[in-house]
This record gives sequence, structure tokens and C-alpha cells, in this order.
Amino acid sequence: MRDVIIIGGGPAGYTAGIYCARARLFPLVLEGDLAGGLLMQTTTVENFPGFPDGVDGPELMVGMRKQAERFGAKMVAEKATAVDFSARPFKVTFGGETEEARAVIVATGSTPRRLGVPSEEALYGHGVSSCAICDAFFYRGKRVAVVGGGDAALEEADLLSRFADKVIMLVRRDVFRASKAMQERVLNNEKIEIRWNTLVDDVLGADVGRVTGARLKDAKTGELSEIAVDGFFPIVGHDPNSEIFRGQLELDEAGYVRRVGETTATSVPGVFVAGDIADHRYRQAITAAGAGCQAGLDALHYLEENP
Ligand code: NDP
Repeated sequence: MRDVIIIGGGPAGYTAGIYCARARLFPLVLEGDLAGGLLMQTTTVENFPGFPDGVDGPELMVGMRKQAERFGAKMVAEKATAVDFSARPFKVTFGGETEEARAVIVATGSTPRRLGVPSEEALYGHGVSSCAICDAFFYRGKRVAVVGGGDAALEEADLLSRFADKVIMLVRRDVFRASKAMQERVLNNEKIEIRWNTLVDDVLGADVGRVTGARLKDAKTGELSEIAVDGFFPIVGHDPNSEIFRGQLELDEAGYVRRVGETTATSVPGVFVAGDIADHRYRQAITAAGAGCQAGLDALHYLEENP
């Protein structure tokens, strides 16, 4: 039986790994499908303290991972498929086997949200993408659409404009949600056209197996129109990866794991939570890493008090 299993390999999971490993708890870190988490799909991170010139997302994550490994954390490239928190020791199933642990840290993060329009799923990977950094290169000299008005959408639009000839932003209201600095960057970018009050009715091209355009709906008049684009990027927020914890941990209305009290404790004593899975407010690499540190320390104190 292990002292700690950490479920999740993003900034929260790796930082919890560093703290648990340094406390000689020999944590097992289940990194899931995307080791390193969402920062693996980011370009330069300019707001992580300690990097005055910015740092590449993947470089930052590889560094955190190595740091946890150096102190004895064991990394496993598997996703937890089930948990049983009904009694101690807790059980975590991954890759067809089940391991037991005295404490668990949940740090599974969140997943980019889909729009839910009819042809979006069928065209995913065929012109529909939620990751500009992964795919921007393919749109050199082409036209793309970006849906959303948050920081992520504006950042991706800006990145895409370095490759594409034209970026059309589809914003459902008449304001952006993004920070002022990001808004200025996009509004001053000649390659980016903004269409306010615009909803997406469907992505076009399912009949030919690749994105050819989008059918739009005016949010005020309901009028339909079409645009021709080669790429379509819905960048409209995230959903928490909490499905396997349903019925095991208390979740809020939106599915985020609820913290109990002022620590990283959850509704089950001995199970702690860190990162975007419990945070729909800040969602930053630095806040996730900070919460990972807290969860690591909370798990350590819990194990000392409940040997
Ligand atoms: P946000 O929740 O901030 O923004 C989501 C955007 O998508 C909003 O404009 C929202 O519209 C729109 N939207 C949601 N659903 C739909 C839909 N079905 N159809 C059309 N539009 C839709 O998410 P982000 O991922 O952008 O950002 C998450 C957090 O991460 C934020 O706190 C952000 O500040 C931060 N972040 C910071 C960055 C940085 O500092 N460099 C980079 C990226 C993110 P509406 O406004 O109408 O709700």
C-alpha cells in the first residue's frame, strides 16, 4: 500500500508530487492522457514568476516533472478509471489494476469545452481544433475562425494570425471577457476581424470530411449567414474532469470538487484536491502549483495525524 497516490500530471499534480516526494512519501503520480496537462499546448507563459523573459509551457512542465522524479515520485502514464473512497485504504484503478493508498490527491484539471453544434465532433481533427499552438502551422496563408471572447480565445486568435491570412473571431455578446491588455492586442491586429453578437449554428464540411466554413446566427435577429474558413477553433472555456469522482466526493453544481474548510480537504478525510478541478475562478498555472503545494502539505499532516 502507498502513502499517497496523486491523480493528475499538471502543475498541481507535479507540485504535490514534489512536496510529497521530499517528505519521503514516495507518491505515485498518475499523469493521465496528457502528461504535463494543458500547458503542454501553450506557447510562452509570461506570467509564471521567476521567468522574466517568459518560459515555454512544455519546458516548464518537463521541469516540474523532473523535479518531482528527482525526489522519488513515480510517474505512470495512465489515467485513473475508477476510485473507491468509501473506506480507507482508498482504492484507485488505472491501466486495469487497482492500487491502495492511505491518502489521495485529486488534481485532474479540466478539459476544453465543445460548442455542441451538430458537425463539430465529426470534424474534430479535420479542421476543428481547440489547440492553436498544436495546429496553427497548418493554416499558413489560410482563413480560420475562433469562437469565444475570453483570454484563451484572444490569445489563440493572436497566435493564429501569425500564420493565417485572416482570423475571424465569433463572439456571442458585444463585449470580450478577456483582460484589457489582451483585448488591445487583438483589436490592433489587422488580420483579426471581430464579429460581435454572433452564434455558431454549425461547422460546415462534414460532407467532404474537412472544415469548409461555418453557419452563423445573429444573436439579436436570428438571421443565418455563412463564412468560408479552413480551420475552426472553439475556445470557450473548460469543464472539470470530475466524472470518476461523482458519488465519491462532493461536487458543486458545475461539477468542480468542493473544498471543505480552509485547506485542500474534500468531503472525504484523507482525500485532497488541487488545481483547476477545484478552481473555476483563477485557473492559472501558478495557482494550480500553489494548490498542489498545499495539498502535498495537507496530505503529509493528515498521514502524520492518522498513521
Ligand atoms: P473564459 O471562461 O474566461 O471565457 C470563455 C469565453 O467563451 C467567454 O467569452 C464566453 O462568452 C465564451 N463562450 C462560452 N461558451 C460559449 C458558447 N457555447 N458559444 C460561444 N461562446 C461561448 O475561459 P478561458 O478559457 O478563456 O479562460 C479561463 C481562465 O484562464 C480565465 O480566468 C482567463 O483569464 C485565464 N487565462 C489567462 C491567460 C493569460 O493570462 N495569458 C490565457 C488564457 C486563459 P461569455 O463571455 O459570453 O460568457
